Amino acid sequence: MTPDLKTQHNVRAAADWRMIVEMIDAAMQLALEKGPHEVTPGCNCISCVNRRKRILAGPTAPWRHRL
Ligand SMILES: [Zn+2]
Repeated sequence: MTPDLKTQHNVRAAADWRMIVEMIDAAMQLALEKGPHEVTPGCNCISCVNRRKRILAGPTAPWRHRL
């Protein structure tokens, strides 16, 4: 990668990173404003997003170790 392309890549990566951080900040702010609530489809607060992710991930694998 030439230095110029590398700089362009870094600028784009920094912009992407900033966008992700801003999205998480907005989701945290929304969760703070709404307070505790049930997991709601379409709600983009950090709590609902995480709980929906956990639901979609399915049940955890059974414990396979003996103590
Ligand atoms: Zn929510």
